[in-house]
Amino acid sequence: MKLIFERSQAGRKLSLLPEVDPKSCQLPEKFRRAEHIRLPELSETEISRHYSALERRVFGVNQGFFPLGSCTMKYNPKINDELASLPSFTGVHPLQRSQEIQGCLKLLARLEERLCKLLAMDAMTFQPAAGAHGEFTALLMMKAYHLSRGDEKRNKILIPDAAHGTNPASAAMAGFKVVNVPSDAKGYVDLEALKSLVGEDTAGLMLTNPNTLGLFDPNIEAITETIHAAGGLNYYDGANLNPIMGQVRPGDMGFDLVHLNLHKTFSTPHGGGGPGSGPVGCVEILKPFLPQGQPIDCGDAYELANSSKSIGTVRSFYGNFLVVLRAFAYVELLGAEGIREASETAVLNANYLQEGMRAAGFQTAHEGACMHEFVLSLADLKKNYGVSALDFAKALQDEGMHPPTMYFPLIVSEALMVEPTETESPEMLDHVIEVFTRLRKLAETNPEALKSTPKTTVISRPDEVEAARHPIVQYQED
Ligand SMILES: *Cc1c(COP(=O)(O)O)cnc(C)c1O
Repeated sequence: MKLIFERSQAGRKLSLLPEVDPKSCQLPEKFRRAEHIRLPELSETEISRHYSALERRVFGVNQGFFPLGSCTMKYNPKINDELASLPSFTGVHPLQRSQEIQGCLKLLARLEERLCKLLAMDAMTFQPAAGAHGEFTALLMMKAYHLSRGDEKRNKILIPDAAHGTNPASAAMAGFKVVNVPSDAKGYVDLEALKSLVGEDTAGLMLTNPNTLGLFDPNIEAITETIHAAGGLNYYDGANLNPIMGQVRPGDMGFDLVHLNLHKTFSTPHGGGGPGSGPVGCVEILKPFLPQGQPIDCGDAYELANSSKSIGTVRSFYGNFLVVLRAFAYVELLGAEGIREASETAVLNANYLQEGMRAAGFQTAHEGACMHEFVLSLADLKKNYGVSALDFAKALQDEGMHPPTMYFPLIVSEALMVEPTETESPEMLDHVIEVFTRLRKLAETNPEALKSTPKTTVISRPDEVEAARHPIVQYQED
């Protein structure tokens, strides 16, 4: 496919704008370009086709099944985008005085109230711009809390080995030492190991439940009590809230801090690095440490709080407001009942798919039912036929599907982590089972056929190491 610059034809342009007399808008000499700027010149038809062709090359939820485990790639109702593009929101400037943006502040306060109810938390900041950023913010609050009590030895964060990679990274960024907590044979936190690891230097625990294996830890209360008894705080990585919203609440499980990924659970389009939002909820004792600028209901108006104990500001202004607005629309439209139903359907869909895969001969990483996602291990295909999880994922692309998350969690060999979400129909789930079954048979009878996939994509098998180490991201002009 040609770049728009390569399609350019000198003199071809849109003729919608009136000609301008160059003399009427002469800039002072020092502001003028010495050379002509090289802009592509195309007709409206050509531009429209060019961008439509680019759109067709992107795979998103609008194209097909997108079971990227741990990412919750659910369908996003278009009305959320419509509301987020209303001029009354897009025309607001973040430097406006709080008296002039009362509606926006009220929206933040109302979503805070709704989400706190869902989480059993007492307050929430919308400043963090992503999940990892929320983790970092929560850990700074945890640190500030311990220090405010003169408790200076607490420099260790406990993190289970099934954790998302951002957890240890955030802990290290916030200046903590990371202590790895092993999982037991069932995929849960090894409680005895946890007990032997806590002490006076424990700042807290970072945990996601259900964990990245898609399993809900039945010992959750014993886990959080162990940390509290040692004087630490419990932090809940709520990026995986989708299967539990409206069912159980992190606050009731004994957590003191939670981050959410609005761009996963609360229906904001994501992937490819677009804007996200990772709000952090906390219990009462941690409120004073929240980032500055928390909207506070003062009866007749909303004001921005200024706490002397605050950790400061973690992002400019109010965070990614339009992402928060989409989440607000989603929560208001679904209501408590709809939210609960969404989560039940997400779990039902994942279990339907897991059982279908098991019936087709696939090995799952763990026995029994799952929550919102499950992990397949293709170790047997690799061992017997030389077909890896990567080969299988590539073959799925030719079937019009996005591959599941691969090689994660690290504790499962040849892992494919599948999360169908609640927005897929039973027909689609049956189709997915049919495709997986067919590709598995192909792997057993003609493994070479999978090794040459994908055939339908622009690039088939890039040198992944080279592409990661030496990416060419700039157009090379000749
Ligand atoms: C996605 C995810 C994160 C990180 O969220 P980002 O917005 O990508 O920074 C953290 N933990 C879990 C369990 C996740 O699935």
